[in-house]
Amino acid sequence: MKAVYLGRFQPFHEGHRGVIDRYREEFEEFVIVIGSADKSREQENPLTFEERKEIIEGCYPELEILPLEDEGKTEEGNRKWAAKLEEKTGGDAVISRNSLVQELVREHTSMEVEEPDKIGPDSYSGTEVRRRIQSGEEWRYLVPDCCKEEIDSLTEVIEEVGIEYEFEPGWKKENAYHSTAD
Ligand code: NAP
Repeated sequence: MKAVYLGRFQPFHEGHRGVIDRYREEFEEFVIVIGSADKSREQENPLTFEERKEIIEGCYPELEILPLEDEGKTEEGNRKWAAKLEEKTGGDAVISRNSLVQELVREHTSMEVEEPDKIGPDSYSGTEVRRRIQSGEEWRYLVPDCCKEEIDSLTEVIEEVGIEYEFEPGWKKENAYHSTAD
């Protein structure tokens, strides 16, 4: 049996590592698939495929890591994406907690779905790691030691794409000369 562990890994964190360590021995083959491989330098997807791959390789140099590009959020796009996931990986099972992924795999492929339990606290989440990096809070304990340095070298990129100024940096309403209604 070949298992496919799919995720965006923006960035890889302790929850992802927990899933891999829990499942990899259960299957003869185990491949990591990096989704939204065509996306980078945007708020939800700051890192490129290559950067995400290098981070994961720091922990799992022996595992196969493949890219998978998105196909658009239409019915046709979803169908095409699921078929591509099966074709490209030759997997028998997909490990995912994402309900859309589970639905598409069941509907459009012959692969099984394996839903892992949630590992660790809510802070084991890519969104939370990005938020902490962007706001200068402590994030290092949320990612495995084996890839901490690699992520550290990319924090500037994550900070840069996360900033969405509504006003000039440092703007505070109480310091405004006149109200916006004026
Ligand atoms: P993700 O947020 O990186 O998560 C990867 C997997 O790890 C998810 O199953 C996630 O479950 C799990 N995980 C994360 N933290 C965990 C924890 N603490 N304990 C246990 N499990 C944990 O990736 P994703 O959003 O699921 O990735 C789906 C990919 O498929 C995306 O790239 C998406 O664009 C792609 N996709 C594309 C199409 C299309 O092109 N039409 C359609 C569907 C999907 P949780 O999220 O529950 O934590």
